[in-house]
Amino acid sequence: MVKISNSRSVVFCDFDGTITTKGMIDEIGEVFVGQRWLELKRQMLARKLTLREGVAMAFETIPSSQKEAIVEHIRKTAVIREGFWQFMDFCDDNGIPLVVASGGFDFFVETVLSKYYSRLAGVYTIGTDVSGKNFHLTHTFVCDSCGLCKAKVMNEYPGKAHILVGDGLTDLHGAYESDLVFARAGLAEYLTKEGRAYNPYDTFFEVIDGVKEFLKSDVTVRQSK
Ligand SMILES: [Mg+2]
Ligand SMILES: [Zn+2]
Repeated sequence: MVKISNSRSVVFCDFDGTITTKGMIDEIGEVFVGQRWLELKRQMLARKLTLREGVAMAFETIPSSQKEAIVEHIRKTAVIREGFWQFMDFCDDNGIPLVVASGGFDFFVETVLSKYYSRLAGVYTIGTDVSGKNFHLTHTFVCDSCGLCKAKVMNEYPGKAHILVGDGLTDLHGAYESDLVFARAGLAEYLTKEGRAYNPYDTFFEVIDGVKEFLKSDVTVRQSK
């Protein structure tokens, strides 16, 4: 295989429902918020509430004292999508920065991936403050609807081709700013409805194959300059 260093591409990979098979925010919402979460989720999916509003309304009802129980629940239930570790190796081997951008919470991603942070080019999440009675969410890179806007995160990597891997509504604004999109589940449905192109995937092995194809054009672009 041709080794490509200093790739002009950056991969922005979602966490919930992408790196993990089930969205942890959904799992924790169902177990620790309950019925109210399902109701808020319906409103967010119907876009009657923004993601930022709905997620805050649900999770700021959880007492801070529950954090350890939530971490334990994540440890027990998080399942990593097939091929993700190989995808991380693939990015390393080819000098492609791998950024994890999640509309979920800091400690969800930390619980699952903290051992591998040195291999990631960046980790962007919604922050959680548990110094008060209940969870309090803190936001960076917001737009008028996202709790963490992936399009804004991408602005931190100017002059690069953007590759997005995602599965849901939190990925939509990032998808608009990407040169190559891998989509499944809700994200694939939104993009289909809007007539936008994407590569479907089920495992990260398909993402590796798609990125390899893309990198061939990446090399051609650079060599022709
Ligand atoms: Mg997701
Ligand atoms: Zn946004």
